[in-house]
Amino acid sequence: MISAKMMRMTESGSAIRAMFEEGARMAAKYGRENVYDFSLGNPNIPAPGKVREAIIRLARDTDPMELHGYMSNAGYPEVRAKVAASLNRRFGTAFDENNIIMTVGAAGGLNVILKTLLDPGDEVLVFAPYFLEYGNYVSNFDGVLRAVPANIEGGFQPDAGALRDAITPKTKALILNNPNNPTGVIYTEDAIRAVAAVLEEKQAEYGRPIYLISDEPYRELAYDGKEVPWLTKYYRNTLAGYSWSKSLSLPGERIGYIVIPSECDDAGLIFDAAVIANRILGFVNAPSLQQRVVAECLDEKTDIEAYDKNRRALYKGLTEAGFSCVYPDGAFYMWVKTPGDDEEFSDRAKMHNILVVPGTSFACPGYVRIAYCVAYDMIIKSLPAFEKLAGEYGLSKK
Ligand code: PLP
Repeated sequence: MISAKMMRMTESGSAIRAMFEEGARMAAKYGRENVYDFSLGNPNIPAPGKVREAIIRLARDTDPMELHGYMSNAGYPEVRAKVAASLNRRFGTAFDENNIIMTVGAAGGLNVILKTLLDPGDEVLVFAPYFLEYGNYVSNFDGVLRAVPANIEGGFQPDAGALRDAITPKTKALILNNPNNPTGVIYTEDAIRAVAAVLEEKQAEYGRPIYLISDEPYRELAYDGKEVPWLTKYYRNTLAGYSWSKSLSLPGERIGYIVIPSECDDAGLIFDAAVIANRILGFVNAPSLQQRVVAECLDEKTDIEAYDKNRRALYKGLTEAGFSCVYPDGAFYMWVKTPGDDEEFSDRAKMHNILVVPGTSFACPGYVRIAYCVAYDMIIKSLPAFEKLAGEYGLSKK
């Protein structure tokens, strides 16, 4: 018999598993090239050549005892120092290795932060729509995730007024994901300032910190030169989590970091506790080889132009077919309004061999998410299928 908690998670996790299975079943039936699978945020662009070179060189030239052994649970000090220096160069901050913990991706980092902060019953807020795994991560530590309603009229920017209404004496933290999965929206500096002002006001009212957890795996994926605000500059009690899963196309390698700024309330205590959390969650430390690889590739970038080309082609194709989409400024997701129920829309899309994720899976019905981290040709080939789907809903071609 499994635990009641895991039973609930197993049941709710079955939607994602069903999607995987559906994709595989359709590929077997129609041929992979005839299935337009937009369901997963798995980068289709290979890691930059320098990453591969670094892996090969490090594996060949480094003493294996040094390369594969345990190290501090926070990660190699020299790697953390390099990460800190890179952030300082980019954002004018003053971090050092004592502000950085290397983690097992963003997911590992978020779990470390939440384990460090949460007592049972503590509430964590997030703006809808959001990456549904947050609910599982918060529940891992018996916290309660609460969604601040989506700001549809405001173009899915965070709504500071709605945040103020949602904060309670139990609110311990707010998770902010920028650029955003699933909308592709980049939260503006003004919106961030307004959020920070509400958090300041509320922590003053309650006389205790409310932490802002910045989840940033898509930071590097910003188009048209758009800036993604660096949150520690706007709010003192910010803990930032990053990963190279998307920025260097390394999701399977599980490598990222968290930043605990010295000006945070209880920064030293949070750092020490987070290092222990990294260990006792069973991660122990971030993968040793990958720590060294990313330290050599801090200035490397994925081929953002390829995602941009996909973004433009998909947006043009979908809007011409009559769909209404949020024009994404970041990440690699298109957020499309459905002309009816989103789950029914996703089911109908399958009839045209199109796989998308209903907005309900991001706590925001009435939309679907289309992950365009796929081959450009697939996007072009899929457009007639989207046009047929639009036609079924009586949408008029533009
Ligand atoms: N946060 C968001 C918003 C994501 O979309 C993802 C992955 O898709 C993660 C966290 C987890 O990323 P990682 O692979 O770095 O654990």
